[in-house]
Amino acid sequence: MEERAALLARVSAGSGTEIKDPATGAVIGRVAFGTPDDVAAAVDTAAAAQPGWDALGDQDRCAALMRAADAIDAHAEELAYVVSREQGKTMNGLGARYEAAGCAAWVRAAASTPLPVEVLVDEGSSHAELHYRPIGVVGAITPWNWPMIIACWQIAPALRMGNTVVQKPSEYTTLTGLAIVQVMNEALPPGVLTAVTGAGDVGDALVRDRRVGKVMFTGSVQTGMKVIEASAGNMPRLTLELGGNDAGIVLPDADPGAIAEGLFWGAFINNGQTCAAMKRLYVPDAIYDEVVDALAGIAAKVPMGVGLDEGNALGPLQNQMQWNVVNRLVEEAKARGARVVMGGDPDAGAPGYFYPKTLIADIDNAAPLVQEEQFGPALPIVRYTDLEEAVQWTNGVDVGLGASVWSADREKALAIAARLQAGTVWINSHGGIDPRVPFGGAKHSGYGLEFGVEGLKAVSVPQVISG
Ligand code: NAD
Repeated sequence: MEERAALLARVSAGSGTEIKDPATGAVIGRVAFGTPDDVAAAVDTAAAAQPGWDALGDQDRCAALMRAADAIDAHAEELAYVVSREQGKTMNGLGARYEAAGCAAWVRAAASTPLPVEVLVDEGSSHAELHYRPIGVVGAITPWNWPMIIACWQIAPALRMGNTVVQKPSEYTTLTGLAIVQVMNEALPPGVLTAVTGAGDVGDALVRDRRVGKVMFTGSVQTGMKVIEASAGNMPRLTLELGGNDAGIVLPDADPGAIAEGLFWGAFINNGQTCAAMKRLYVPDAIYDEVVDALAGIAAKVPMGVGLDEGNALGPLQNQMQWNVVNRLVEEAKARGARVVMGGDPDAGAPGYFYPKTLIADIDNAAPLVQEEQFGPALPIVRYTDLEEAVQWTNGVDVGLGASVWSADREKALAIAARLQAGTVWINSHGGIDPRVPFGGAKHSGYGLEFGVEGLKAVSVPQVISG
């Protein structure tokens, strides 16, 4: 066995459901999926560990998290191997090694962001200050697209603030979820971080458990709405990081050659399976053909294939369900007369869930490929003549995670940015995140913020001490 495969072997169960590599169909391990009954035991463990973890104090908790980040670094290649085999992403580029390195960076950031007591009033005998106390047990529910780093985004701030965590990975990427929890647990006291495996019914049981005081949920809008309903009886606080349909708007003064690479990776990062990837692109008539040609030129050079092959930059889709979504949306676009610039012709007989890099031009804004979240490597490029129309189209969907404006004139771009209904607007790039900068959605993309000091506040109870 390859040395870097040791962690994958350790988290695999001896029996249970076979887990297959999405690039090849090869069996890579097995998972013993849990049931809703397993949730109570996991929450018991977390609830029992919480007072001791809180009593450790902020400094010692941060030190433990720093050691957890060191453990992630020490196992980075093994973690990257697990996520590449199970999720399908490539080892290189914005892939598995990048995700593993990001995990360590975000854990360190959560452990080193200051959150001092805020003195609100200090006038004679009047004194009021704001403290941030632990909530208790946090339930952390993750999707399958960035299965390791999203788990860290939920786990690390929650632990920092004195909570304990029960993590439920996506049923599509369970081995990866177990791997990151196991590695972090090398540095954490027992019971502070527990994983439960299983599908939506297990996530639902976690939301409904009366001892869970906060749910960090990242996933689709549809499931986010179910989480809101399930939470009504128990009122855990919620952070909901949900789906998006991010638009990019190119302004007429942009240089197509200069922006093409940024546009491509903004859309195709992780094969489009990224919440804040650019999922539709609006380009003015005056430079439309140049932008499309420049994008096609970049796309043609990006190698797609098995994630473990070091030369590849894009892998397969993670699962059949997502492959079907992308295929349906592209077929519908073709049927309504859109122009296929590249791709759109998957080899259905080939092994794995590969879908070719696809650019669809001269597509109308009402097409499902524009209006729905494709979450895959198929970018619709919509032509516009009136910038007002592009702004309206951008805002004309229920979701609002991110958006981007591409222009040589920063002031012009800023003026458009201010009018877009999105949690983040990037100028001349799309999708970049930073552990110091809060991230969250507008409209149906969810509520609550992650990262930075806002992210720490979101996993704590504010308490005013007055007098
Ligand atoms: P999903 O909603 O199908 O599943 C997410 C998680 O929820 C899984 O662990 C699943 O088992 C669990 N779940 C399913 N039903 C549940 C229920 N009733 N109660 C509680 N938990 C339940 O999402 P997915 O397909 O895994 O992920 C893709 C989606 O996630 C995309 O829409 C993407 O845009 C979104 N996403 C958003 C962000 C963000 O930060 N905003 C980040 C990554 C992905």
